[in-house]
Amino acid sequence: MISVEIKPFLLNKKHVFRIAGGARINTPVLLVKLTYNNFEGYGEASMPPLYGETIETAQIFIKTFDFSKFSSPLEINALLKSLDKHSPGNTAVKAAVDIALHDLLGKMANMPLYKYFNLPKKELKTSKTIGIDSAEIIEKRVEEAADFHYLKIKLGGNNDTEIINAVRNVSKKPLFIDANQGWTNKEEALEKIAWLKEIGAVFIEQPMPKKAFSDMEWLVTRSTLPLIGDEGIQRLSDVKTASNFYHGINIKLMKSTGLKEAFEMANLAKSMNLKIMLGCMSETSCAIGAASHLGAMADWVDLDGNLGVTNDPYQGHKVINGCIHLNDNNGIGLINPDWNKIETYV
Ligand code: MG
Repeated sequence: MISVEIKPFLLNKKHVFRIAGGARINTPVLLVKLTYNNFEGYGEASMPPLYGETIETAQIFIKTFDFSKFSSPLEINALLKSLDKHSPGNTAVKAAVDIALHDLLGKMANMPLYKYFNLPKKELKTSKTIGIDSAEIIEKRVEEAADFHYLKIKLGGNNDTEIINAVRNVSKKPLFIDANQGWTNKEEALEKIAWLKEIGAVFIEQPMPKKAFSDMEWLVTRSTLPLIGDEGIQRLSDVKTASNFYHGINIKLMKSTGLKEAFEMANLAKSMNLKIMLGCMSETSCAIGAASHLGAMADWVDLDGNLGVTNDPYQGHKVINGCIHLNDNNGIGLINPDWNKIETYV
């Protein structure tokens, strides 16, 4: 029998985080532990408010799902199918269960998850994300990110030029750009992209609103940099039409409902010659550690969500000189998680 425990948690950010469309200092999270025989599997739902899930909706979802219909984690396919049907949406809490199940399966099979997915072990150069801020603060944050090989810069507010100038004052590193749907005029977006290519950007994430379909069709054939869908690409079904609007997709466990569908999305994207970015929300080392096992499938990795928080309750893969080094612990690779010591947020 699989038993479930949950803990609401509030993940505090080191700094106020601003993007086009909002600012926040913490992120509500639901931590999940599944137990089967002597094995423990850990999962997590991270729920930035703009996606609509809350600690309350996630708790209700878990409490009303009948795990007793499934005798073992080996029934993962049937369980995840039933979970997906339990209620529409709720992708983060579905991801929490999926991650915990995979952690269990890795432990039962005595292997780290990259082996479970039959993937090679790869050192992952993750970008470090810099939120929208004043020039002075941006320069400071860029200097603090000296270890990282790539910087991810949030644009799409009203001071894009100022931000890029501030970054370039202190760093020549290649930049991932994320406009978070903030550009609303396609001709202006195209000009910005040309300028960003000049200053050393690698790609542009979600340049325009996710529903600006005809603008994105126009932009994708003209852009001089790869365009990556994030808000516009949530699940497997979105990948099928992605190449009409983007050159690549940003896969995040909290959108995809977890590892199983993320893996399927990456496989489908590869077969369509779409670029693959692996991204995250503010997350603990649990969800970040889980996503890292799919790193070998990605062209670009943005898995720094656990590095920008002050109260990560877990320890996972080490990040050395901006590279995530997967450890070989079974499952996700959490190091001696102590569930009972984690303080619940009420
Ligand atoms: Mg994004």
